Amino acid sequence: MRVDAYAAPAAGQPLARTSIERRAVGPNDVLIAIEYAGICHSDIHTVNGDWGPQPFPVVPGHEIVGLVAEIGPDVTRHRIGDLVGVGCMVNSCGECANCRNGDEQYCSTGMVPTYAGTDRDGTITQGGYSTHVVVDADYVLRVPAGIDPAAAAPLLCAGITTYSPLRRWGAGPGKRVAVVGLGGLGHMAVKIADAMGAGVTVLSQSLKKQEDGLRLGADDYFATSDPDTFTELAGRFDLVVNTVSAGIDVDAYLSLLRVDGALVNVGAPAEPLSLNVMSLIGGRRTYAGSMIGGITETQEMLDFCAQHHIGAEVEVIAADRVNEAYERVLASDVRYRFVIDTATLT
Ligand code: NAP
Ligand code: ZN
Repeated sequence: MRVDAYAAPAAGQPLARTSIERRAVGPNDVLIAIEYAGICHSDIHTVNGDWGPQPFPVVPGHEIVGLVAEIGPDVTRHRIGDLVGVGCMVNSCGECANCRNGDEQYCSTGMVPTYAGTDRDGTITQGGYSTHVVVDADYVLRVPAGIDPAAAAPLLCAGITTYSPLRRWGAGPGKRVAVVGLGGLGHMAVKIADAMGAGVTVLSQSLKKQEDGLRLGADDYFATSDPDTFTELAGRFDLVVNTVSAGIDVDAYLSLLRVDGALVNVGAPAEPLSLNVMSLIGGRRTYAGSMIGGITETQEMLDFCAQHHIGAEVEVIAADRVNEAYERVLASDVRYRFVIDTATLT
């Protein structure tokens, strides 16, 4: 099946209209007519070559929401017409200890990313900046009623990537959580941590988005460009979630943790970060990373968001504005997720 798409032809090149082939619907596959695809900073890292060479042309997009258009004969958990979502992975071995444990994202043979990955049939995956996608039913999520489809799309990456560490590190009543960077991931972290009952502080480069941050659910908002911020907040937080797409001063953020606190990095900059281990030793602190979340956990996150009436704050754009959106994301000028209306691809 030939479908319309938007692809990066080579590293660092602007995305352009194209068409790609989608496989025939297999016995356990779902054909999804995509309605919305979010633009994640990871799409930009990938096409700009920040994370190494890629199998160009690349159709990015791993925040996909659409309607089930066709199902294979073995599919039981999705029906034609259902509103569904696809996140950052479309396959994994299903048999290793991590997959069996619901951590498919850490599959020991490597999960299959939604784009620029090699699928288990040997083909290169292509993502959601397209009108249709065929995905194994086990990697297709149900989007609960009550979340606007465009606002639901970013939950499939930004939502789960922040929900997972917030849950794992115990964000909840009585806990103080700081979110570094108020972009796509950051604004979801604020909403979700607030819904979990934690006290939430935003640490942003400036106070430009302070009003938004407080409206989204933060109790406090500080500018990291002001050195007094680090003195004032020293030792305050149980958990700091770093969503920044660039390098940060890790020691400065570790100093904001109380004893036994954790700094969890979800931001994935191109360059390595360094730290002084004394920042950990001097407070039994943890520095950790976290990648998206498993399939069951992603469904749990979608259900949690529906229950708490949480969606992303989105700016819906036509496909021909993708390159402009990339520039704005790189300039930290996003409020708070660009989402492509895939009807504009045809
Ligand atoms: P985004 O929308 O661009 O948000 C990043 C935010 O970081 C910006 O809005 C800005 O917030 C802050 N920032 C940007 N450049 C900065 C700099 N030079 N110094 C300090 N702060 C800066 O990006 P995103 O889509 O949320 O993604 C964030 C990062 O997470 C990316 O690296 C992405 O690849 C990664 N990611 C990881 C996972 C995972 O599984 N671990 C999943 C998805 C994405 P302020 O303006 O408020 O300072
Ligand atoms: Zn993403």
